[in-house]
Amino acid sequence: MSSAPETTRTHYAHPFDDDKLREECGVFGVFGVADAANFVALGLHALQHRGQEAGGIVTHNTTTGFHSARRFGYVRDNFTSAKLMETLPGELAIGHVRYSTAGSKGRTEIRDVQPFFGEFSMGGAAIAHNGNITNAEALRRELIERGSIFQSSSDSECIIHLMARSLQRDIPERMKDALRRVEGAFSVVAMTRTKLIGVRDPLGVRPLVLGRIGDGWVLSSETCALDIIGAEFVREVEPGEMVVVTPETGLRSHRPFEAKSSRFCIFEHVYFSRPDSILGGRSVYETRRQIGVELAREAPVDADLVCPVPDSGTPAAIGFSQESGIPYAMGIIRNQYMGRTFIEPTEQIRNMGVRLKLNVNRALIKGKRVILVDDSVVRGTTSRKIKDMILDAGAKEVHFRIASPPTAWPCFYGVDTPKREKLLAATMSESEMREHLAVDSLRFISLDGLYRAVGEAGGRKPECPQYCDACFSGEYPVEPADMVERGFKLKTAAE
Ligand code: SF4
Repeated sequence: MSSAPETTRTHYAHPFDDDKLREECGVFGVFGVADAANFVALGLHALQHRGQEAGGIVTHNTTTGFHSARRFGYVRDNFTSAKLMETLPGELAIGHVRYSTAGSKGRTEIRDVQPFFGEFSMGGAAIAHNGNITNAEALRRELIERGSIFQSSSDSECIIHLMARSLQRDIPERMKDALRRVEGAFSVVAMTRTKLIGVRDPLGVRPLVLGRIGDGWVLSSETCALDIIGAEFVREVEPGEMVVVTPETGLRSHRPFEAKSSRFCIFEHVYFSRPDSILGGRSVYETRRQIGVELAREAPVDADLVCPVPDSGTPAAIGFSQESGIPYAMGIIRNQYMGRTFIEPTEQIRNMGVRLKLNVNRALIKGKRVILVDDSVVRGTTSRKIKDMILDAGAKEVHFRIASPPTAWPCFYGVDTPKREKLLAATMSESEMREHLAVDSLRFISLDGLYRAVGEAGGRKPECPQYCDACFSGEYPVEPADMVERGFKLKTAAE
């Protein structure tokens, strides 16, 4: 029996999945190696933590032109098929993995899956984008009024339409014109018939790195994806930089935007990036361990065990244990094979909640005073369930230590966040949250402590913060214009 390819998929998150902030995308591109699509598939597999809902690859072959495949589901379930990969020939390829965003409300069309492709008078171009365009609604309105016909509901398609309206004579120049109109966060990987292009927004909010494989070039959201294909890390694409790679000229760097101070997303260090990646010259693992060290200094507590909430709390728990001298233990075990599911869970399964994914190591926990280290508290629903599991297992006390400051503001730069009123820290003080979670103590790392852990010895500079930390501070480095138009209230001077 043959079946038509899926065009729509309704996404059912795990019952506890909505209690984490989620990075929405990962991008990867390769130029100058045979069968580039195979390398892109491996790179996307290494970036799967940045988006599990769907993925796509576009390639170019000098004799057969452009080819593309976009699929729902994990990279390993789609882009490992020899039959599919044979349809993606060429030495130039880009790819994208995507997470279902808050805006899509769980229903995704295959046409929303990147990379997007545009045919211009000077040839075709494909674009994959990580981040969020904060003036996309205004741009879309303007473009539609001027005759553009959108194929998808994705904001990123605006870039293709803006490029189509540019009068420049080559695609990189058109892309510069288009991106100068775009506000927000964007790390773009794009390709033409003969060029691989990478761009970061002027503040460099989302990551993008450059690597080499033999004589070829690689662009990736994170360094962990360079490692999987044996590519060598060269450097980060700088905030506000466009890199263009061609076989004739090699790599050329352009500066299409007005220079600004970098505001890289500090949450990449806390949670989004893989611990084996390098960000800003620092090991993500080491930064997270250091967050635990800072947390133990700022919020010590007498206890018997330090346990991580797996997996993302692990390095901070190790740091907390090392600094406090309290033994580290795996008090909670994660079921490694409980991936995201696209099958609607039954009510009975929903009620199992966090138990589907995490189980308490009873023999270890019984009768102990336990410090649980987690990366963040978003709605607080998962934290409550974990605390219940630990108490059910016979723990004497439960103390939460959180490796990020209270998340009190939504992110508008490419991270899936609940509405502000759903964020626990937006409606409660720290002591109210402690009461709500019914734990013996609850402490978050301070913003200054987090800055120290990422290598800023003097902490946060209030007049010119070194990072984007808007989800903690409410200070948005780029005004979220669309959201403000829809009624979102920015922080007032009095807050
Ligand atoms: S608001 Fe938070 S999650 Fe979003 S880019 Fe800024 S620091 Fe990162």
